[in-house]
Amino acid sequence: MPEGPETRRMADKIGSALINKKIDSINYFHPNLKGLNRTKIIIIEVTSRGKAVVIRFDNGMSIITHNQLYGRWTTNYLKTKIKHNRKLRIEFCVDNKAIRLWSATDIKYLKTMDENNHHYIKNLGPDVLDETTTYDVIFKRLIDKKFKNRNLAGLLLNQNFIAGLGNYLRSEILFYSKIMYDKKPKDLNLDEKNSLSKNIKDISIRSYKQKGKTLFENDLMLKYLDSSVKRRRFMVFARKNLRCFICNSKIKKEYISSRRIYYCTVCQR
Ligand SMILES: [Zn+2]
Repeated sequence: MPEGPETRRMADKIGSALINKKIDSINYFHPNLKGLNRTKIIIIEVTSRGKAVVIRFDNGMSIITHNQLYGRWTTNYLKTKIKHNRKLRIEFCVDNKAIRLWSATDIKYLKTMDENNHHYIKNLGPDVLDETTTYDVIFKRLIDKKFKNRNLAGLLLNQNFIAGLGNYLRSEILFYSKIMYDKKPKDLNLDEKNSLSKNIKDISIRSYKQKGKTLFENDLMLKYLDSSVKRRRFMVFARKNLRCFICNSKIKKEYISSRRIYYCTVCQR
């Protein structure tokens, strides 16, 4: 499933195709979009909240879509033949292109001012990519009594703690913070809590900017350690039995509540 950074990049792409453009046609194939005005409507903003895409119109209305595992946005030229059998949900045609949403079922059309009451959005914590979500905001949530007794493996996937984190970010954040997944915020010393707060923010932003890659692109040391570009996306995620870039021991993999997690037993404590 796409995590916050992937969803935000998807929203950026939809936005750059649609914002303030004259939309030639809007088609929808989902009962929740019945009230959608199909003429003379302008899209003024496209953003993400956690893993949902939010499209805002100039008439005070918004569409919120949550892709879960199967939904997918695409951009194609109108003349491009579509070769898959996914169900079409929304189609915006503009400048000879079609921006389409396929397969998603969680689609809502509602007043922009009511976005925070949306069934998914109302349960979200601060969005990790939002500039108001500072290190300090994250630190305060770590020590909040609601979260401090929970183990980090679960907490880092809990969208009510910080929205937008997911599976690969969880493994990477814990590795960079040198903390094992079974620790709880209350077990951490001040330095560890600071490091974790900073990494939650920085690694998510880095992944957003670097298209899903959490490594520093300019890390010259890593360039010499491993020649495969694919393997150099992450420090630990999807690297089972490969050597840790830092200490050379083997990366471990486990399933926790059926989600895979990767870690280094030497670098993380
Ligand atoms: Zn290591």
